[in-house]
Amino acid sequence: MAASILYHIFPSSSFLQLAVAVILIVVNKSLSHTSQEVFRHIAEDRVPDFVLCRNCGGDVADSHDIINHLSPDALVRTNQTLFGRPETELQVLINSLGIEFQIFTTSFARCVGIGESWHQHYSWFPGYAWKLCFCSQCGSHVGWMFEPLRTATVDRNSPSNEGFYAIIRESVISETFANSLLVVPKLYRN
Ligand SMILES: [Zn+2]
Repeated sequence: MAASILYHIFPSSSFLQLAVAVILIVVNKSLSHTSQEVFRHIAEDRVPDFVLCRNCGGDVADSHDIINHLSPDALVRTNQTLFGRPETELQVLINSLGIEFQIFTTSFARCVGIGESWHQHYSWFPGYAWKLCFCSQCGSHVGWMFEPLRTATVDRNSPSNEGFYAIIRESVISETFANSLLVVPKLYRN
């Protein structure tokens, strides 16, 4: 009935255009609603994030392993949500060459320490010796590993349960953020 009334009001081609427009608006609203539901669902679930090497995308650490190990030498310290972990401390520190690094700390990381010796001088964390830590895939410098002085022996390649890692913020990215940048080829879109 409504269709026949509309048919008399609009010429046939205009009526078709109107019908298509209405269908598109309804479909668009439906898709928009679905997208909002999906994003709300993701936000509520707060799935763990992963810390990736900015250079190659290699796995560096899990957000579960972020801990706040504070350095008395920090020039600036800011508390923020990082890799989905609220209240993560970002610290700005300077090395012996005068280079500034913004770091956060983790109890575990998959970077690789270089050299047998642990260094005791210029340690940002008193009571701990350190080694440089490099991405296991591409060799980029992603941070440092720290170990208590008494257990920092030449036969120890990585930190014990009492040690930890300092990761350079600028050398890593969030996996969630990296995934959001990926473009799905048109062929695979629904
Ligand atoms: Zn890498």
